Amino acid sequence: CGIVAYVGGREAFPLILKGLKRLEYRGYDSSGVALIEDEKLKVYKKKGKVSDLEAELAGKAPKGTIGIGHTRWATHGEPNDVNAHPHYSNNRKLSIIHNGIIENYAAIKQNLVGKGHVFLSDTDTEVLIHFIEDIQQATGGPLESAVKLALKEVVGAYAIVVMSEELPNQLIAARKGSPLVIGVGESEFFFASDATPIIEYTKDVVYLDDYEVAVVKDGKLSIQNLDNTETIPYIQTLEMEL
Ligand code: GLU
Repeated sequence: CGIVAYVGGREAFPLILKGLKRLEYRGYDSSGVALIEDEKLKVYKKKGKVSDLEAELAGKAPKGTIGIGHTRWATHGEPNDVNAHPHYSNNRKLSIIHNGIIENYAAIKQNLVGKGHVFLSDTDTEVLIHFIEDIQQATGGPLESAVKLALKEVVGAYAIVVMSEELPNQLIAARKGSPLVIGVGESEFFFASDATPIIEYTKDVVYLDDYEVAVVKDGKLSIQNLDNTETIPYIQTLEMEL
């Protein structure tokens, strides 16, 4: 339902929590955040409100300057801690937040189970990140290529952000049918379902189009479509006041 992600120089966890609270008006049943903390992927998620997630952590903010956060409106799998996003891959290195529905998840899941993938949740989303991992391992290419190849097979609607423990300066986002905005700051980038979590940091934003994949790598944003054609990011300046 709601997406917030960050990469840059600030502490990601408080920034993402604040952003998720700004998206609370959209409605949700659970929330979660994944960060790269001391070079390891850490995932914190909880059924209920963002404040329930905070309460569970008892005021301790996990450290890290890259992270992804989500408020979930369940479509596949009941609202509970395990089904909350972020989800992660079989090797626990890739993580994902997702708004929307992967309609053909069951067939993909069946194939991956046959290859030894173990699923923890009942969600369509977890299948997508395992699928990306499987393609990455099979092709050996860069993560963004695996994301594109996976999305070409997906039927449904999505806004996603993918983060890898092995690429701590990189976030990959994509959309089809669900909104996604990228905030472009000074050596920092914000991703969100709408601009409300972003405007206090930057008014320079890029609205991602359907079938576009945004890659933030080492402080630079590039946008390609699923067939690798490059588009120049169109940066708009928001007039919105806080
Ligand atoms: N289909 C996903 C799920 O049920 C994402 C739902 C959402 O958009 O929050 O977990």
